[in-house]
Amino acid sequence: MEAHREIICVDAASDRPALFTALLHAFSRGGALLGVYDENDYLRYANESFLRMFELEAGQAVTFSDIIINAAHSGRTVRIEASDPWAFVADAQSRRRSHVRDAPQRSFPVDFVNDQWFWCTETLLPNGWIVLTGADITSLKRTERLLSAQRDDALRLSAVDELTGVHNRRFTTAWLDSVLLDRPLGSSPVSVALLDLDHFKSINDTFGHETGDIALRHFAQYCVASLPSRCLFGRPGGEEFLLVFPDTGSQEVKSVLDGLLGSIPPISSRLPAQVTISLSFSAGIAESRAGESRNDLLARADRAFYLAKSCGRSRVEIDRKLTAEGIRPHIRLMPCCRRK
Ligand code: GH3
Ligand code: MG
Ligand code: MG
Repeated sequence: MEAHREIICVDAASDRPALFTALLHAFSRGGALLGVYDENDYLRYANESFLRMFELEAGQAVTFSDIIINAAHSGRTVRIEASDPWAFVADAQSRRRSHVRDAPQRSFPVDFVNDQWFWCTETLLPNGWIVLTGADITSLKRTERLLSAQRDDALRLSAVDELTGVHNRRFTTAWLDSVLLDRPLGSSPVSVALLDLDHFKSINDTFGHETGDIALRHFAQYCVASLPSRCLFGRPGGEEFLLVFPDTGSQEVKSVLDGLLGSIPPISSRLPAQVTISLSFSAGIAESRAGESRNDLLARADRAFYLAKSCGRSRVEIDRKLTAEGIRPHIRLMPCCRRK
C-alpha cells in the first residue's frame, strides 16, 4: 500500500510519532534553543544549545529563578543588567504567566555575555508549562549595530563641516529657518552675520593649502569658543561663515563681532620660526523684519558684507536699508568708494 503523502496540519491534538521525532531531531541539532519549564518553573527538558548557553547539565534540578540569579551573580551566560536580580525575576515572572488571557505567547530578544543574541518565544501551555524556543540572531544584531553606527555617522556628516567641525550650510540654514518660523509676533529680532576672511587666497598662495586649512580650523575654533552661546556659528563653505543670533539686535551683534575682529590670535603652529599669520574678516549684519524670508534677510546681510569689503576690509557693517525692495545678493554698492 502507498504511504500517505498529504499534508497534516499540526495542532495540539496531533498525535503523530513521526512528527515528534522530526521536531526532536530538529531541536537536538543546530543552535536553536529549546527549554521546557513545568508549572512550578522547574526546567524539565532542554536541548544541548540551551544547556550550553546557560551552563547547565542534564540531571540538575533548577528553576527559572535559579538560572537568572546564577547568571546575575556569576556575570556569565545571559546578560542581566538589573541592579536587583530578584526584582528582575519578579518582574519577568509576572510577564511570563500573566499574558495568558491576551495571548499565550510572547517574544523578546535575549543577549548573552558572550555577545550572542537570541530571538526567544515563550508559549504558556494550558497545563501551566512553558516552552521556550530561541533562534540565534547574532549576525542580524551585528548588522543592525553596524547600520545604526553608519546612520549616526551619516546624520553627523549631514550637519557638520568636516574640515572645521562646526555646523555646515545645511544645518545652519535649517536652524535659521526654524528660528525665523518659531518667532512669536512682536518678539525680539533675529540677526544674521556673514563673515569672510580677508585676503585668504594669499595665505594659500604663500604657505600652501594645508596651512590654509589650519587657518580655517583655527578661526572656526576661536569663534566657537569666544562667541556667545546663543549664537549659532556655521561654515557654508570656503572661507565664509554664517552666524545666527536669536533675540539679538544688529547693533549688539556688531559689538560682538568688532570685539572678535580685534582679538583673533595669530597662527604660529606648524609655521617656520618667527612666522605668524594674522587673520581678519569682513562681515555684514542684517536684522530680521516682520514677515521677511530667510533669503531676503541673507541678501541684506550679503549687501552689508560687500559694503565692508569695498570699504577696506577688516570691518563690520550693518544693513540699514529700511525697505526690502531691490535687494539682490552679490551686488557691490561701494558707497564709501563713491564718497572718495
Ligand atoms: P577677499 O578679501 O576679497 O575675500 O579675498 P580672498 O582671497 O579671501 O577671496 P578669494 O575669493 O579671492 O579667495 C578665497 C580663497 O579661499 C580661494 C580658495 O582657494 C580658498 N579656499 C576656499 N575653501 C578653502 C578650503 O577649504 N581650504 C583652503 N585651504 N582654502 C580654501
Ligand atoms: Mg575672503
Ligand atoms: Mg569668499
